[in-house]
Amino acid sequence: MRKLFVYISILYSFLYPCNEALSQSNLTADDIEKFIKEAESLLDEYKYDEALEILDYANQGAQFNNDDKSLSLVSNLKGKIYEMNDEIDKAITEYNHAIILAGSSKLRNLEADALNNAGRVKLKKKELVEKALEDFQKSYQYAAMQKDTLRMLRPLLNLSKYYIDQGNYKEAYKKLSPAQRLLSENSQPVARVKLDVLLGTYYYQTDKFDDANQKLNEAIIISKSEVKNDKNNSDLKYCFYQELADAYKIKSNLSYAITDFRNAYEYLDDYTRYNSEAQKIKKEVDLQKASIKFDVDQYKKQAEKMEEDLDLKESEEIKWRISIILGIVIILISLAFLISSYKNNLQKKILNQVLIDKNKELLNAKETAEQVSTLKSQFISTVSHELRTPLYGVIGLTSLLMENPETKKKNEYLESLKFSGDYLLALINDVLQLSKIETNEVKLEKVSFDIRMLVEGIANSLHTKQKSNNNKVHIEIDDAVDSSLMGDSVRLSQILINLVGNALKFTRDGNIWIKVKCLSCNAGLYNLRFIVKDDGIGIPKSKQKEIFDSFAQVKNENQEYEGTGLGLAIVRKLIHLHNSEIYIDSEVGVGSEFYFDIKYEKAIKDEEVHLHSGETLNIGTSNFNILIVDDNKINQIVTQNILKKKGYSSDVAGNGADAIDKVKVGDYDLVLMDINMPELNGLEATKIIRTFNSQLPIIALTAVEENEIRIQASAVGMNDVIIKPYDTQQFFQTIIRNISKVKMI
Ligand code: ADP
Repeated sequence: MRKLFVYISILYSFLYPCNEALSQSNLTADDIEKFIKEAESLLDEYKYDEALEILDYANQGAQFNNDDKSLSLVSNLKGKIYEMNDEIDKAITEYNHAIILAGSSKLRNLEADALNNAGRVKLKKKELVEKALEDFQKSYQYAAMQKDTLRMLRPLLNLSKYYIDQGNYKEAYKKLSPAQRLLSENSQPVARVKLDVLLGTYYYQTDKFDDANQKLNEAIIISKSEVKNDKNNSDLKYCFYQELADAYKIKSNLSYAITDFRNAYEYLDDYTRYNSEAQKIKKEVDLQKASIKFDVDQYKKQAEKMEEDLDLKESEEIKWRISIILGIVIILISLAFLISSYKNNLQKKILNQVLIDKNKELLNAKETAEQVSTLKSQFISTVSHELRTPLYGVIGLTSLLMENPETKKKNEYLESLKFSGDYLLALINDVLQLSKIETNEVKLEKVSFDIRMLVEGIANSLHTKQKSNNNKVHIEIDDAVDSSLMGDSVRLSQILINLVGNALKFTRDGNIWIKVKCLSCNAGLYNLRFIVKDDGIGIPKSKQKEIFDSFAQVKNENQEYEGTGLGLAIVRKLIHLHNSEIYIDSEVGVGSEFYFDIKYEKAIKDEEVHLHSGETLNIGTSNFNILIVDDNKINQIVTQNILKKKGYSSDVAGNGADAIDKVKVGDYDLVLMDINMPELNGLEATKIIRTFNSQLPIIALTAVEENEIRIQASAVGMNDVIIKPYDTQQFFQTIIRNISKVKMI
């Protein structure tokens, strides 16, 4: 619709350059007439599609105006267009439409035209021939009613041609005769020529050869001049050439009939020539039509392209708009996203900063705590060390005084002094031990040891306690348990001493069982269960958990026990170091059972194990000469007396330098070397001694904690370390072990 409107607008602006915009409703009858005339001239130029479009538009205008005349004219013209394009059915429809419209308005001229046209087309359809003849008749009648000779002539010519073509010359003449009369000076040349040729044919067929020649010659003269007439369009020229060809054809037949063969041949030649001329023009017309059609198609294509372009532009515009909207939306979303992520980032940054600050604070707090803890450990270590040295003297001297029957009698408070000294020493040792475990300073060692000897040694070392409460100690070790194992014997001793010590403390006139059971003893791996059981006072269920805490003691009003309340805490921590746990099974008045499991490897038997057995044999049997190096006079006396008690002879050196001199000249089996001494300390002195004597066993005798000193001691060539205050039995075992080593070599 828009395409047509665009076209009409262009056309209309061409026709009415100054007119306002065209609108269908305001088309006047004049406008419509102009459109129809424009369509007619387009028809002459074979511009059928354009003509049809204008006619459609005119048709709508005429319908709007109820203008039957214009509607009839439009239909008539459309019929012609379809006829020229050999669209017979469409042409008949349009002509019939034109006939009805003209008839209803009694427009006889128009009706006559439409009828003549309809007849001409209907003749082309066999089934409509009768109708065609009727239409010609009616056309003639309506034209006659108007006394319109031109319009009367057309159906007569059509009818006479039909009858001649049918060979019905009689009927043909009935039409030719009035037609001849209607012909006048004003008649169209084409009508005159057509009539002449028809009459010529009729005369030839009715053997009136002269009349025939006359009519045909007249037609030839007119036609020859008309084909040269530039006013005539190609259609007319084609028509005249055809008439010329027809005229010569009949003349040739006529000459042949009168045996004038020469002329017959010549006319035949003329016929061929003009016929080919007619065909030539027809071709030209067809070409022209085709080219116009092509142009129109091109135009249509162009219009379509324009429309497509418009659509494209429109859709591009829409796309562009959508893109802009989308763009804006995306930008808005991105902005919102940016803002929210900026806010998030800001929040994150703030949170991060808070976390960083907190981390710093925590790190500082941790560092401070670690510093405090280190300071605490250092403090404890230093204090305990400082306390232990004088305590060593106190206990040592007290022991000596107590062993002397004379002094023992003189001072009844010696026992209490010894008790207090022992308690203080135990407390210091426990505190030191606990702090060391807590600061991860205690590492498990792997040495070979004899489990049976270890257990028996513990039982023996506690025999005083055992006796004081009148308890019996029973040792039960599974036969499957190999004597020599690999592990940390010192920690195991600590655990058992604590547990057995407690059992002895909290049992009177009872029994203590130390059991070692094999949970699995094969392939050199011993999973052992250690049980320390007593039939003592027992522990109430409610207290069984808390006794493992530091300084926890079950209150018992009837009895007073010595103890620091740290023993079980240390035991549990030491068992944890072995990746194990301690369990308790106890009932008040029945007794207590503590048990735990530790895995040990089977030891490869070495000389140390032999030594262990040798030690026991040698204890108290040899008379060794020992050099005691100590700057502390009390310590010198205590150590000398202890050695003397076992029958050892000893000599004393007050410092490192003195010791070196004495070793050079004296015959000593072993040196007990203090570490911290003025002038030349024990380590330096040992270093020098080792330059001239590599065999002599030198044992560090010090209150300095074992781990700290052991590495330094072995680095300078010392053989062992004894920590003050020491257990006498262990003290002698160490001495014997080191002397035996040298002697055995
Ligand atoms: P203490 O030095 O007081 O013995 P421990 O930590 O070794 O400290 O023991 C804590 C407490 O647990 C003891 O004071 C005692 O009340 C109780 N206890 C420990 N072992 C036994 C036991 N075999 N029989 C009864 N009570 C025990």
